[in-house]
Amino acid sequence: IVSMQQVTKRFGPLTVLDAVDLEVQQGEVVVLIGPSGAGKSTLLRCVNGLEGIDGGTITVDGQQLVQKGRELNSLRRRIGMVFQQFNLFPHLRVIDNITMAQRDVLGRSREEAEARARELLARVGLSEKEHAYPERLSGGQQQRVAIARALAMDPVLMLFDEPTSALDPELVGEVLQVMRDLAEEGMTMVVVTHEMRFARQVADRVVLMADGGIAEQGTPEQVLEHPTSERGRAFLAELG
Ligand code: ATP
Ligand code: MG
Repeated sequence: IVSMQQVTKRFGPLTVLDAVDLEVQQGEVVVLIGPSGAGKSTLLRCVNGLEGIDGGTITVDGQQLVQKGRELNSLRRRIGMVFQQFNLFPHLRVIDNITMAQRDVLGRSREEAEARARELLARVGLSEKEHAYPERLSGGQQQRVAIARALAMDPVLMLFDEPTSALDPELVGEVLQVMRDLAEEGMTMVVVTHEMRFARQVADRVVLMADGGIAEQGTPEQVLEHPTSERGRAFLAELG
């Protein structure tokens, strides 16, 4: 469903992605790991068009990502993204956070949007919080709302950039559980995370990035237990 071919991304003199090829199949869960600065966030941002690319092509759901204009917008709304910081609108109640883009971007009626929001809140275990403001929620709850908000747009693909890194340790599990359920339901997901247990249990494929490229990829078992590349071994040795 995602095809990146020879994708190159530079920031000034720095080549962050150097002719990267990556394919993600429908329903596949790909976990991206690698050292800080390897280009993991940049790769996700390129896939949903938040960053333009300097070379190569990216296709999502059969549509090539073009640099600007209406086409990019219509493609982007079909890609959900969840960040380390939850980025909820602080002045909007939970339910309004989830209905706003449905109404503004997809043109759904209030009733339709609210019905969808309630369905998703139930799914992430937060039905009773629909009228709360974000500041009254724990970090884990806020992140689950952020996931529900992304899902409300009926994405064909979900991108997660360290969704649990800003959370207190005791709140990480509830967010990973929602992601695990989503994976089981067949959502296509690309997840940047340091949660190796999640990678082992949920990933169909682990991709290890280093120095602007893919150092190694394979099943979690292959990459995490038996890395073959120098960079892969070094990174995993550091994780301990
Ligand atoms: P981390 O694990 O720390 O999140 P990462 O693998 O996500 O790292 P990126 O955030 O993709 O790494 O950054 C890759 C490189 O690109 C880094 O050297 C970073 O400093 C640089 N970079 C990222 N965004 C920009 C930007 N907007 N302008 C200039 N340089 C940038
Ligand atoms: Mg990052």
